[in-house]
Amino acid sequence: AIERKIELKTHEDSDVVVDRWDRDGFSWSDEANKILKDRFHLESFRPLQRAAINAVMSKEDAVVILSTGGGKSLCYQLPALLTKGLTLVVSPLISLVEDQILQLRKLNIDASCLNASTSKEETKRVEDAITNKDSQFRLLYVTPEKLAKSKRMMNKLEKSLSVGFLKLIAIDEVHCCSQWGHDFRTDYAFLNVLKRQFKGVPILGLTATATSNVLDDVKDMLGIQAALVFRAGFNRSNLKYEVISKKSSDEECAEEIAHVINTQFSGQTGIVYCLSRNDCEKMATLLKTKGIRAKHYHAYMEPSEKSSSHQNWISGKIQVIVATVAFGMGIDKPDVRFVIHHTIPKSIENYYQESGRAGRDGLPATCILYFKLSDVFKQSSMVQQDRTGLSNLYNIVRYASDSSTCRRVKMAEHFEEAWEPSWCQKQCDVCQRATSSELKSTDVSKETKIAVQIIEDNLNAVKDGSGRITGNKLLDLLSKKLAGSRNRVFCEKLILFLLLESYLQEDFHYTVYSVISYVVVGSKWSVYKGGEILMPLYSNELGLSETKSRKRKAGSSSNEKRVEAEDDEVVFLDD
Ligand code: ADP
Ligand code: MG
Ligand code: ZN
Repeated sequence: AIERKIELKTHEDSDVVVDRWDRDGFSWSDEANKILKDRFHLESFRPLQRAAINAVMSKEDAVVILSTGGGKSLCYQLPALLTKGLTLVVSPLISLVEDQILQLRKLNIDASCLNASTSKEETKRVEDAITNKDSQFRLLYVTPEKLAKSKRMMNKLEKSLSVGFLKLIAIDEVHCCSQWGHDFRTDYAFLNVLKRQFKGVPILGLTATATSNVLDDVKDMLGIQAALVFRAGFNRSNLKYEVISKKSSDEECAEEIAHVINTQFSGQTGIVYCLSRNDCEKMATLLKTKGIRAKHYHAYMEPSEKSSSHQNWISGKIQVIVATVAFGMGIDKPDVRFVIHHTIPKSIENYYQESGRAGRDGLPATCILYFKLSDVFKQSSMVQQDRTGLSNLYNIVRYASDSSTCRRVKMAEHFEEAWEPSWCQKQCDVCQRATSSELKSTDVSKETKIAVQIIEDNLNAVKDGSGRITGNKLLDLLSKKLAGSRNRVFCEKLILFLLLESYLQEDFHYTVYSVISYVVVGSKWSVYKGGEILMPLYSNELGLSETKSRKRKAGSSSNEKRVEAEDDEVVFLDD
């Protein structure tokens, strides 16, 4: 009671603070160890599992934050056997649940799931079992919408409690409760009744990611403000993180990914995440032409086709699954050696989860993120309606576009953990790239003014003020304007910088079919009174145009050379 809230920030801390819970010596400890070995056939507990089990067995509410594949299920499955009563498991996805139930039944543990397609007989059997305190039934899985919609279900659970059978409520993917989270689901809002309705039954929330504000939100919503929080460090030491700047043409990018898979990950299992169904299909087709056993996966496929793709990938018949994020939660394949993001994901949390599907067996695996400016606008128009959508996106953009900070440092900042760059052990591209060149603040006020001028010229070109331009158009025009002094890569970096620093901002336009992102001047520009605008750049990033120096040397007679550079005429116009 002295210290109810345990917030663990680093591995070191977690070892000390969790100690109180992560130990033997509770009255159920011998039995718990026996069940672990004899029923689950597992050697030993993984980090936090024993702490979580001891907490809920002590009737404490708890939230366990453990990376995907970390073994969250055992935190409620084992208590389900220890309590000899009913454990109710709320889980968002039927598909995951069915898999778990099959596994449990193989272990001779009576578990079931009630949903729309459950037979009458099974429903009856389960309803009888959960209201009979001597039954051997142990785990009932339901979706939040089932709870919210079925009064009968709630009545049976109340009966279960009144006969003393209901012992524990586990809520999987508990971050879905929070509007601040990356996966808010309205049906989770109903779960606020659980604590009131089932007094005395401990609630165990489980998730792979939750920042402090999400966590506070979740606890408030579930009415478990005093819950113990067990948080493992975010770090997955066997994963190597890399960001690669993406070629501007789709074909070149796809070729590059195929090449990376064939050279670095030949014959190894992996996932390529794409933004759209169309991207997935195109990428899978290209990979196949390069001799890679690939298959697409997205929400628009028939359930049977989806499940066969999934199964064939699990069994190894398919080497690479090319998927949208529909291929997600709860994928449990231990030997995924690489996760490649063809397009920037929505947030750092999403990236952490999606890339975290690599290397669950603890062996080395690689996470590669392909990044270019125009993908930001694709994502932003999709996420902008979420309350925190744009700021979450800009955070992952900061992660991707910062080529001078260890990727793990960036993640640690996001997860609010203390972190030393040396702990990365050079398992990220930034730490590996031993740069001798130094990051320097470069004044980009002149270029910024040109960018703003382009935006304003376009606005004024149309009388009603509707002449806004997209970020891609701005990049084209700016590259042309600056061609004499700066290259396109620099222009891309500059626009990103100006967006992240609010000199520019995105402005969304809604049509019947889509949302378009335009770039307009931002809040910082409105208060800009002249003077330097400093942007950190490496000396090799200054993007001083080669065409210009070349032409200066060659003079204006070198016509052949001019054809190579796409923006040549403009150089001369500006000169
Ligand atoms: P999560 O829900 O955290 O993503 P799961 O509960 O699905 O993870 O577990 C992932 C995998 O780890 C499963 O295959 C599970 O059997 C295995 N696992 C869980 N706990 C242990 C343990 N203590 N020892 C060995 N393997 C474990
Ligand atoms: Mg799970
Ligand atoms: Zn690093």
